[in-house]
Amino acid sequence: MSTNGSVIRIIIDGKEYLSRSGVYLIDVARENRIFIPTLCNISGVKPRGACRMCTVSVNGRYMTACTTPVSEGMEIKTNTPDLHDLRKAILEIMFVEGNHICPVCEKSGNCDLQALAYRFQILVPRFPYSFPKRTIDAENPLLVKDHNRCILCKRCIRTIKDEQGRSFFAFRKRGHKLEISIAHHLKDHLNKEIAQRAVDVCPTGALLKKESGYNIPISERKYERTPIGSEIESLKQSVIGDQ
Ligand code: SF4
Repeated sequence: MSTNGSVIRIIIDGKEYLSRSGVYLIDVARENRIFIPTLCNISGVKPRGACRMCTVSVNGRYMTACTTPVSEGMEIKTNTPDLHDLRKAILEIMFVEGNHICPVCEKSGNCDLQALAYRFQILVPRFPYSFPKRTIDAENPLLVKDHNRCILCKRCIRTIKDEQGRSFFAFRKRGHKLEISIAHHLKDHLNKEIAQRAVDVCPTGALLKKESGYNIPISERKYERTPIGSEIESLKQSVIGDQ
């Protein structure tokens, strides 16, 4: 989506902001230090609306902020009790549909899913656990894929590519058996640097690098120092609203 549209005015949570038409709503929110949770969105990468965590109210309708371009006069609510409950339910579904055992996960403290669970104060999900039988695939010499922890956000597919733009990752199988795989024809090109990028881009512990672990001690990890969202909210300022 182009960011070169005309200057427009929109209302977010009762305050007026300037933006440019066509910019994705989640990016407008980020620019203005308004935290909208997401697990699949990465700034600058084409959005897919896969996780639905960024659902907001736009002119009274629920829409994903990552796939919605802003336009003149939009009225957006980012944080109502209903939206909070919806997002919490989405998180709970992710937890019951996978096997997320945080205390034994190398990503604990650096995991976006875990950090959001803390932010939304999830204790006992309202849905029954499904305890799916999933595998851990350690076939690749550099990466371990733990399908128990994959939330199918497609971040790895959309961002980890070779020079020709071919993705190192893909989905295989269908329905509830859908899982992430390393593209067969590219697996020999997967080097340590690419493996590290994949681990970093994954919002959970579904992708982990072999031969290293716990380089950052527990209690010194990203979300143990600052809760998720605080990096956006800490410099909160409006373009027009505070004038
Ligand atoms: S492996 Fe990680 S980045 Fe890839 S789809 Fe699963 S959760 Fe998302």
